[in-house]
Amino acid sequence: MRVPRPNPLAVSTWAVWSLPGRVLGTVVAVVLLTAAVLVLQVLSLPAALPPNWGWTLVVLAVAAVIGTEASLGTERRRRRTDSSPHIDLSSVWTFAAAALLPGALAAVVVVIVYGHLYARAWRPDAIPPHRVVFSAAAIVLSVQAAAVVVAAVDPAERFRSLVGLLVVALALLAYAAVNMLLVVGVMVPTGTAPDMATFRRLLGPLDEAVLEFATLSMGALAAGAMAAFGPAYAAFVLPTLFVLHRTVLVRQLEEAVDTDGKTGLLNSAGWHVRATRALRRSELADAQATVLVLDIDHFKQVNDDHGHLVGDQVLAAVAAAVKAEVREEDLVGRFGGEEFVVLLAGLDGDHDPAAARTVAERIRQRIADLRVVVEIGEPPRQVEVGELTVSIGGATFPSDGSELVQLVEGADTAMYAAKRAGRNKVRIGVEPVAGAGAGPLPLA
Ligand code: GH3
Ligand code: MG
Ligand code: MG
Repeated sequence: MRVPRPNPLAVSTWAVWSLPGRVLGTVVAVVLLTAAVLVLQVLSLPAALPPNWGWTLVVLAVAAVIGTEASLGTERRRRRTDSSPHIDLSSVWTFAAAALLPGALAAVVVVIVYGHLYARAWRPDAIPPHRVVFSAAAIVLSVQAAAVVVAAVDPAERFRSLVGLLVVALALLAYAAVNMLLVVGVMVPTGTAPDMATFRRLLGPLDEAVLEFATLSMGALAAGAMAAFGPAYAAFVLPTLFVLHRTVLVRQLEEAVDTDGKTGLLNSAGWHVRATRALRRSELADAQATVLVLDIDHFKQVNDDHGHLVGDQVLAAVAAAVKAEVREEDLVGRFGGEEFVVLLAGLDGDHDPAAARTVAERIRQRIADLRVVVEIGEPPRQVEVGELTVSIGGATFPSDGSELVQLVEGADTAMYAAKRAGRNKVRIGVEPVAGAGAGPLPLA
């Protein structure tokens, strides 16, 4: 799909200015720091450049361009199912550059790699240029950190001695650490003190870290082969890189199958599989667990008042609010429409009905306090949607049932009881309610 692009010369219209203050501050600081470091690196370029530096630079840039081109098709297919950030395995080449070239020349490779990535993958997707500038700056700084570490051993010894090996390994860690700190640093939400839990969440799944290390290790291998046998040996890395990229795609598709696209929560199938497993664990641990069913009150009104697009964003905001009130290990899913489901079965497993009620009350309150600001229309205007409420029903294992299906049914019945009791209410436990779950609900 073609997206109309703003005039790049109209500085005041750049998307970067709409970033929250702290993020904008971080982005500007990182870009300025990068510029300063680059000036220093250019001034400290050694008089005698490493042999083959020209070829090394050209081969790395060309290999990166080929690598990106080869993975474009896979990327496009992936993005049909998923809008998460581009998989970018270009650190193979940027790390190899750091291991083989002085910092300033390695930065040239980074600029070529990211310029090309932007032109071919990011720009067609209307990703604002400041994102690529920040990513490239973060990589330039990572490369400089690695280049400073490898400079500790003479280039001739770098891939020949045990000390050289250790130094390259250390450079790999320095590269990963700087990149991770910068990327996570810019994502820490405004107004929160970065704690360990936020940090771990922003860091993403372990898989991502493993992938990053796999990519950097391939960069080290490529650099070693290029140093030992000549720059052209970089070509042997390309097929492996292509296969690695496809493996990542398969993993992301697997995740997408279980994810609800609108809210990022588990979808019904994904939730059922995980909830069944978690319930079996509770059973083995002789612990309790609670299923909550949530239904937004009068959600049709939101659509009628503001349209479906606003309704969708409200759904996403409610989903985020629910997720924020439970622990990482609790399972939150979207059952379809404006109904959500939560399994409270943490690792300590001890959710008695009273504790579950407290959690449910917290969720109810948070949503009652929620104000969702949505931008719509052309020219854009902001709409605030407030006065959202949910009705919540809960059923506890094992007192209300031993199978997941019984618990979901029980929680659903309890949710309808909460609706009948006037909405914006919590009902836990299967209390007999006349006619619950049958017939149309009163609208008041
Ligand atoms: P209550 O639950 O309080 O009885 O009233 P309600 O209006 O929420 O209930 P109802 O089940 O009658 O309507 C649910 C509405 O949710 C109908 C539908 O338009 C809307 N809805 C369901 N799925 C989506 C969605 O994915 N996006 C949007 N925007 N709306 C949705
Ligand atoms: Mg509803
Ligand atoms: Mg409903």
